[in-house]
Amino acid sequence: MIKHLKKPDLFRQQAFIGGAWVDADSGQTENVTDPATDEVLGTMPRMGAAETERAIDAAAAAFPDWAGRSAKERATILKRWADLMMAHQDDLGRIMTAEQGKPLAEAKGEVAYGASFIEWFAEEARRVYGDTIPSPWGDKRIVTIKQPIGVVAAITPWNFPNAMLARKAGPALAAGCTMVCKPAAQTPYSMLAMAVLAEEAGLPPGVLNVVTGDAATIGGVMTSSEIVQKLTFTGSTQIGRLLMRQSADTIKKLSLELGGNAPFIVFDDAEIDKAVEGAIIAKFRNNGQTCVCANRIYVQAKVYDEFAEKLVAAVSQLKTGNGFDEGVALGPLIDEKAVKKVNEHLDDAKAKGARVLTGGESLGGNFMSPAVVVDVTPEMIVSREETFGPLAPLIRFETEADVIRLANDTEFGLASYFYSRDIGRVWRVAEKLEYGIVGINTGLISTAEAPFGGVKQSGLGREGSKYGIEDYLEIKYLCMGL
Ligand code: ADP
Repeated sequence: MIKHLKKPDLFRQQAFIGGAWVDADSGQTENVTDPATDEVLGTMPRMGAAETERAIDAAAAAFPDWAGRSAKERATILKRWADLMMAHQDDLGRIMTAEQGKPLAEAKGEVAYGASFIEWFAEEARRVYGDTIPSPWGDKRIVTIKQPIGVVAAITPWNFPNAMLARKAGPALAAGCTMVCKPAAQTPYSMLAMAVLAEEAGLPPGVLNVVTGDAATIGGVMTSSEIVQKLTFTGSTQIGRLLMRQSADTIKKLSLELGGNAPFIVFDDAEIDKAVEGAIIAKFRNNGQTCVCANRIYVQAKVYDEFAEKLVAAVSQLKTGNGFDEGVALGPLIDEKAVKKVNEHLDDAKAKGARVLTGGESLGGNFMSPAVVVDVTPEMIVSREETFGPLAPLIRFETEADVIRLANDTEFGLASYFYSRDIGRVWRVAEKLEYGIVGINTGLISTAEAPFGGVKQSGLGREGSKYGIEDYLEIKYLCMGL
């Protein structure tokens, strides 16, 4: 049960295939729990290969009509969908807090953020331009048009159960593609609620399908399908690699948003109070469980102690608790495995000589208090692996060259952040950081208008911005004899 919904039918425990709400063929289900209380909220169908194939067939059947509609028609439906998401923001937020744990205000913020992608791409749908290209031949003309790729499979993670679908469905549907989507097992209800609203907005049956259940089986069918032309995935680098490998036989187009290991650098000319404010946002949003979360905080020697002291003061203001309670800034971690990982990183740092200035205590269940750790070195796990939890490790550095080397010494390249007021340094560092995103004097970088994506092993493609829709389009070259 999810309590206090104004529109109770947003809470669905069935999958959505070809415009119908359906159970697994086997009748099997899986429980979905609240990470704050471990209470069972409900079930989702445990589907496998047959249901996934049916969903792919439904998407393929819906494709010619959807792709053939005018961009304006598609845009009208997508705008209505975004409007419905905002009209039901409170309910969608409640569903998200129940299954994901993040504070209700943050969950409602995510719903608005998700809706902004649907709205943005509804607008972009009408600006998919081709080219006319000067021809080298007197008797032929060259023209390009852009067309939707076809059926798209989408696999999303649990940390942003609404926005990760919106960032994929917005551009895919705007371009004229149809979709089969799989939510994370921890958080299926946000995606299913969005499907309810998509249907109400007038999305034709089969354009957006949602299957739930066994991830490996569903992913296997998606990646081996000859019908699915593209896979878009947000999740761990490990699963991204696996899906890329599985997609090789059918030469699928891929968009991958994978892990990060974001450096957050504070130079000694930074405004320290602003840097602390930015670090709180970049580190502790969603309890440290985002792929753009600051993972390693590098502070220049001269301001190290001041920054540490001010960060501890700010962190001690953050209240941890059930996301439905007033004033809570940090909810539970998603599950026991996540708690274990943060503790492993913390224990390793302590064993190698780091000091805990605040937090890091277990508060029972999936809750832990936010930690600030100093005297961290590059040898510790926290410096190399994504912690994905409320642990801020501070590493001292001396020179600009040193910190750039340290920051780039990773296979990841999604987000990075730095604070400096020296304009020359700002340009130098921004250009040298090997990251797809650089936050300069800010800890908050995500918005529908900007291109989000990583370099190196953080992924392929960009989501959001005028570039985002290109990932769902093919260029066709028309060579026209006169
Ligand atoms: P996390 O460790 O954050 O849960 P994952 O990469 O495991 O990240 O999960 C992201 C998404 O990938 C989820 O929807 C999950 O169900 C899905 N997933 C996990 N394993 C597989 C797999 N073998 N094939 C396809 N999808 C998978």
